[in-house]
Parts: sequence; C-alpha cells; structure tokens
Amino acid sequence: MRFQNAQWITCLKTPKGAATAFYQKFVFEKKVKKARLFVSAVGVYEAYINGEKLGDTAMKPGLTSYKHRLQYQSFAVSKLLKGETEICIEVGNGWAVGRYSLYYENLFSDRTAVIAELVGEYEDGSAFAFSTNESWKARSCEVVFSDIYDGETADFTSPIAEYGNAVTTQVKTKLVAQIGDGVVENERFLPVKTFVTPKGETVIDFGQNLTGFVELVIAGKKGDKISFTCAEVLDKDGNFYNENYRAAQSRTTYILDGNERILKPKFTFFGFRYIRLDEFPTTFFDDLQSICAVVLHTKMRRTSSFVCGNAKINQLYHNIIWGQKGNYLDIPTDCPQRDERLGWTGDAQQFARTAAYNFDVRKFFRKWLGDLRLEQTEAGEILGVCPQLEDRRVHTTRTSAGYGDSITVIPWNLYEVYGDIRFLKDNFSAMKRWVEYLRGAGENEYLWLGGYHYGDWLSMEEGMQDSDVGATANDLVATAFYAYSVELLIKSGRALGEDMQEYERLHARIKEEFQAYFLPDGELLDEYPLTEVVPPKKSPADVVRRGKTQTAVTFILKFELCKEEDRAKFAKLLDEMIESNGGKMTTGIMGSPYLLPALTEAGMVKRAYDLFFNEENPSWLYSVNHGATTMWEHWNGIKEDGSFWSKHMNSFNHYVHGTVCAWMYETIAGIQIAEDGAGFKKIVLAPVPDKRLGFADCALDTVQGKIESKWEYEEDGLRFAFTVPEGAEAKICLPDGFTQTVKGGRYEYRIKNENNP
Ligand code: BGC
Repeated sequence: MRFQNAQWITCLKTPKGAATAFYQKFVFEKKVKKARLFVSAVGVYEAYINGEKLGDTAMKPGLTSYKHRLQYQSFAVSKLLKGETEICIEVGNGWAVGRYSLYYENLFSDRTAVIAELVGEYEDGSAFAFSTNESWKARSCEVVFSDIYDGETADFTSPIAEYGNAVTTQVKTKLVAQIGDGVVENERFLPVKTFVTPKGETVIDFGQNLTGFVELVIAGKKGDKISFTCAEVLDKDGNFYNENYRAAQSRTTYILDGNERILKPKFTFFGFRYIRLDEFPTTFFDDLQSICAVVLHTKMRRTSSFVCGNAKINQLYHNIIWGQKGNYLDIPTDCPQRDERLGWTGDAQQFARTAAYNFDVRKFFRKWLGDLRLEQTEAGEILGVCPQLEDRRVHTTRTSAGYGDSITVIPWNLYEVYGDIRFLKDNFSAMKRWVEYLRGAGENEYLWLGGYHYGDWLSMEEGMQDSDVGATANDLVATAFYAYSVELLIKSGRALGEDMQEYERLHARIKEEFQAYFLPDGELLDEYPLTEVVPPKKSPADVVRRGKTQTAVTFILKFELCKEEDRAKFAKLLDEMIESNGGKMTTGIMGSPYLLPALTEAGMVKRAYDLFFNEENPSWLYSVNHGATTMWEHWNGIKEDGSFWSKHMNSFNHYVHGTVCAWMYETIAGIQIAEDGAGFKKIVLAPVPDKRLGFADCALDTVQGKIESKWEYEEDGLRFAFTVPEGAEAKICLPDGFTQTVKGGRYEYRIKNENNP
C-alpha cells in the first residue's frame, strides 16, 4: 500500500498566504538502480531533488473532491539520487486552502500539508524507503503569497526563514493515484502590442484571451519590483478593464535580487489577454530578456478541425476551441478569470458533447465524473458545483435542473462519442439515483415543480436583457430536463442490457403530465403558477414564469414533450417567435445549445442558418464582430455602445455558448453518430450546405479513425468528399435525397445546380 509509513506534515510557522518548502536530506552512498518519489499535498505543490524540478505537470496534485479523495503523483528519480540529496516540496495554498470556492470560505483546510514517500532499490538489490515525518524540516521560499483568485508574489530578496521541524497532521481524505495526464504548459504567445492607455497605464496585449500565466526572463537590479494585473478586454476608451474579475485580484508580483531568472507563478493561474504593469522599474523594458503568455490546461489531444469559406465563422470556431482550452484546467470550469473558476455542473453538461468532439477528454471526464458521483448526496442530488469544497451544512450550491442532469447527460454523450461502455457502467447507478431523486423532488412524481433553480440563465427575452435569470418558467425547464434525464437513463440502461420498462413507463407518464400541466389544450400558457422557492432579495412578483419563450418551445421539440401530432405546430411557433423577434434568438445558457438542433430536426435549416449567421445581439457572431478571441458568457458582454453588460456576470471566457460547435459538426459537416453506432462504428454523413459558407472542410479524429466531410459550391453545383474510417459503416445522405451506405474509404459526389433543392 502507498504511503503506509508516511505521515502528513505541515508547518505552523508559515505566514498566512505564503508557500512553505518542506525538505529533507538523504545520503546515498550506494548506486541507486531504481527509485520513485510519490507526493501529494493539501494545496498546490512543486517537488524538487537537489533543486531540479520533477515532472512536467503544473498545479499538482490537481483538483478533486478533496474530502473524498486527493490525487498523488509519482516521479522516476533514480538518476537524481546521488551522494547528499535534498528532496524539497514547495506548497502554496492552491485550491485546497485560501479563498477558492463560491463563498470564499474554503473549509477543506486552513493550512497546507505534504505527504511523500521515496521507495527504491540499490544496484546491490537492497531496498530503501523514506517518508515524510516530523524529522522533515520546513522553511520559507520566495513565494510569499499565492492564491487561486488573487495571484502570486515572489520575493527573491527576502532571506529564507528556517521554521525548524515540520509537525505531523491529520488529513481526512483518501489518497489516489493521479487520474489522467494532469495540467501542462501548451502554446506560448508573444506580446502583439505594448502601449500606454489614455489613462496613462502601460498595457501588454498578448492577442489571445487565454488561461495560464505570464513568463518573463529578467535579472533587473536588487530590489526592483515588477507587478502586473490581468484583464480580458479594454473598455470603450481603450483603457484597461478588470472589474469583471470581481474580487479576484489576479496580480503577479516579483521582487528581484539581480540574478537572471525565468519568472513564472508556481501555484496559481489566470484568465487574461492583457496585463497592466502596475509597478516596474524604469529600466524594465531594457532589462527584459523575454516575455510571453503561457497557456495552461489539462493535457488532451486535439481531435477536430473545421474550416469554411466564412472568416467570421472560422473565428467563432477558434473562439470555441479556446473556450475549451481556457476552461479545461483539471476540471470543467465556468470561467478561468474571476472569483469563481468553479466546476459548474450545468455549464459542464451543456458543453460536454462539443468538448468530446474537439479533444480526447476521456480521462478528463473520468476523473471529474468520479468526483461528481462522490459528491452525490444521500438523497441522490447532484449539486450546482463539483468539486464542492465548502461544507454543505454551512453553504450549499443547490441542485438545479440542467445542473444535476450532468450525471445523465455527460456519461451518455461520452459513451456516444467514444463508444466506451464504461462511461455508462460507472455512472449508471448514480444516474438512477438522480432520477429517483427527481421522482420525489416535487409533490407530483411526474413533474418537477418547485425547488430552487438557475433556470435558463442569462436569457434575452423582452424585459430580461438586464437580468441574470431567464424568463422561462423554471418548472417547465425542470420538468423538461427531468424527462431528458429519464430518456438518457433508459438509453443507457438499454446499452447495458438492463430491463428499463419501469423507466419507460415513467418517461411516458412524465410526458403525459407535462402535456396536462404545461400544454392544456395543446398550447403553452403565457404564465405558470408560482411554485418555486423565491430567492432572497426577490419578491414573488419578480419571479418570471413565462411559458411562451423560445427556450420552452425548443425543449418541447428537442425532448419530444408534446403530442406527435402537435410537433409541426410547435415547430411553426418557434419559427414565428424568432421571426417576430426580428429573426433573433432569446435563449439563455440552457436553451441555446438545443435551439439550432431543434430547428434543424424540425426541417427549418434555413432558419437555423439565419440565426447562425446573424451578427446582431444576441448572436454567435456578435462577439466575433466585437473582437472576441474566446466565447463570452453574455451574448452582449460588450454592448453596442461599447459599455459593459455588467460587472458581476461578464466573463469573456465562458464556453457554454460554444455548444453550437456540435451543431457545426453534425449539421454543417453532417458528421453524426448513427442511432446504434456509439463510438462512430456507424456513421451518418448528412451535410447541409449553405451558400453563405462557400465551403466547409471538417475532420473528426474519432476512436474509429479519421472521418472527413468536405463540401464546396462550384459554378455548376456542389461537390462533396468524405472519408470513412476502416471498420466503420457510413450512410451518406446528400441534400438531393441521394443516399448510399458505404464501408471505409474515400468517396466523392457531385450535385448539379438543377438537382440541388
Ligand atoms: C456561472 C454560470 C453558472 C451560474 C449558475 C455563474 O456564476 O458562471 O456559468 O451556470 O453561475 O447559474
């Protein structure tokens, strides 16, 4: 068993916020044949042997549901163990200590700690093992402050303080080997511009909104101070703007000692495109050897490409990919910059399918879903945020429709995209418990009425543009997701060979009750009765409970909630609602992902494309036109007049609206997983060209192999080219009605203009 003789050690003398270096010296007189060092920490750590940093991952030990499990890493170190050897583990606050959490009150621990074990064998065959215990020592290091939200300060001039022996401590958790590949450094961006703003501030623009840190190489003079703060955007006057970071300071500070160093933070990360130099010596730019922004995210293989003949759509695609890079840093976060960076389950489930097409996220989600299951409450609830570092008895991110459903939506989508049945096996009982919770959540077993929901967050109906909450009745959103979760549970059960009759009956009943309650006489009501818990600071009259919203109709179509014979009517209604809204959508983060798919499936592809090409607020291209390099949280985070939508809910790196990417792959390129074709064993290739795109060229590197779909408008018609991987079967469906089922290979088709509908 790992860490059998190791003890958790901490230091009681470290000043608040500062990092601690725990170290021990060993003498290796004999030649070491093999050795591994196992390390974990409460906080974020870097391990060194004789000053040499171990491993290439950052933000170790990673973020998990710490009260349930904490990862450890292992390093092959035999070559480093020679003569007198110092093992040193530096630990900063990281996620586990400090302010990280929704309420700035991280109750997992108020102190960092370390556990380590060195095990190996000498050349002569004898074994050795050393572990952390109170013989280890503690000292300060240059990091005098670090915090996930507030940044890091490294002072190279302050003398190292010896704190004496470490003390042993208890950490109530289970140590587990690292799941997945960890967080690594990726792209590097050189500054595209360094300038002085109208306010007189010196700002560096790295040209891309990203997650990571700034790395600089500089010696400077002893005592020189360099301090800079992050921002994602400039305001309308071209000034540095970071009010949307809310309480996150996001500041990096160095006090130099005159020795040239590569300077970068060790225990934190930032979301930014710009930095403002708050303090710097006059010789800074002369002394600076290099400066760049380094991108940090979980190691994941890119598995997608998309390019078309419309530069704005290509930029949107770029922004979507960067939304994922920026928010897949060990857990799926809502945003990487402000005082949140939390694993919001609703955002995660909405984006999961897109994410799985874009990158290989199998290990990433295996880890996070494990935490999601561990944090499922006894009652079966899945909460708004995972991991939950707060004590639920003190604070709670509530369970909510569209959030709790992450436990059904994510495993199902991962199974579909990767064909790995383990995603269903591992999560099936948790999915079932969630559905059982929903059965008992309201008075009526078949409706989810009442509760406390986030609803169609940030939607854009009339009168709602300035509000966080959506207009659609939460009861309707909740019952729609209830039906969807049961549907996915049934599909998962069938894939696992389970008898799902009970849930099939449940699903049918939910549909019936949905129709009876929400669609009396087959129509949506203008407004539904108030059933939910009214949030603090709100009066019941302020709780919007509209029925006739685009989101409501989208759910009805997408989750098949109306009578079959009424589908055409609701499709028409959705079309009319968009038309009467000036051809624009009003959907928020819950409705938007399903809007274009619902329209497409209802045969209104032109309407879907019109929305996709719309450039006015709200639309996908609005942010592109306003210089976005990532996805925005709010459709018009920067308003037409250049002012900001709000200070408090205005991230410029929020991936949720990037879910349109799945529609781009599945509809524009037409690459779809057939009904019984999980893992792309059976594929449908049904591209839907639109002249405004000119051409589309898309490839998905699936577990089955590379799938390509290309089309291009030519003078006299349309040309299609497909690649189907060996071992797969694809049904090719062209817009003129032609279909053909093919095996692995490359295929080309042409449609003459006169045959193109
Ligand atoms: C997050 C959202 C999240 C929401 C809950 C916000 O602060 O950034 O993306 O879903 O809280 O409604």
